[in-house]
Amino acid sequence: MLEVVQIPVLSDNYVFLAHCSLTGATAVIDPAVAEPVLEAAAARGWKISQILNTHWHPDHVGGNAAIVAATGAVVTGPAAEAAKIPEISRAVTDGDTVRVGASTGRVIDVAAHTAGHIAYAFEDDGVLFPGDTLFALGCGRLFEGTAAQMHAALGRLMALAPETRVYCAHEYTQSNARFAVTVEPENAALMARAAEIDRLRGDGVPTVPFTLADEAATNPFVRAESVAELAARRAAKDAFRG
Ligand code: ZN
Ligand code: FE
Repeated sequence: MLEVVQIPVLSDNYVFLAHCSLTGATAVIDPAVAEPVLEAAAARGWKISQILNTHWHPDHVGGNAAIVAATGAVVTGPAAEAAKIPEISRAVTDGDTVRVGASTGRVIDVAAHTAGHIAYAFEDDGVLFPGDTLFALGCGRLFEGTAAQMHAALGRLMALAPETRVYCAHEYTQSNARFAVTVEPENAALMARAAEIDRLRGDGVPTVPFTLADEAATNPFVRAESVAELAARRAAKDAFRG
């Protein structure tokens, strides 16, 4: 089984350690920085053997070089962004698999936030690392892709098992909730979740992970019924000051 540890870094990033308890293999997902990640692994007696990157943004790859220097970890990242992924040694595309000890992750093409963005789905473990594609009550900004691509990407992720635990790369949830309740004020599940999020964040508790079932019931981007509706909601969120 894959054990996941989340490490809050910078202002709102999460870096994850994924540890195979059978073999001891440990992967880092999207190391924004190196030092807190190396410390978190050392504190558990875990040896980092690989880095999995979802996309090229500096707050996802900034720790690659120092972690590789300290551990010799092998770096896997999206083929379409390989030139921008420091220390990459394996470039992967949709349908490829990655192994973390006894666990297998499937690479899913979710290009939209960036042109080559990928997600890693460890389906037997019920664990998804979507990077900056799917957030609790949100989705990534469309920096290099289109609303049509995001619509397709979210559809691919939502096709995974509803109980899948989602480890997204940012704690954006409270801001996302403030926007979401303006989109679907009649959605009782959303209103209850927004109140719970305020309570958790008030206590400094992470809202990550969450499940795909949570998003199916409450996320206005997942719930958009067309590309046009998703595009309108994404544009409204970009302009939202709440
Ligand atoms: Zn990003
Ligand atoms: Fe990011």
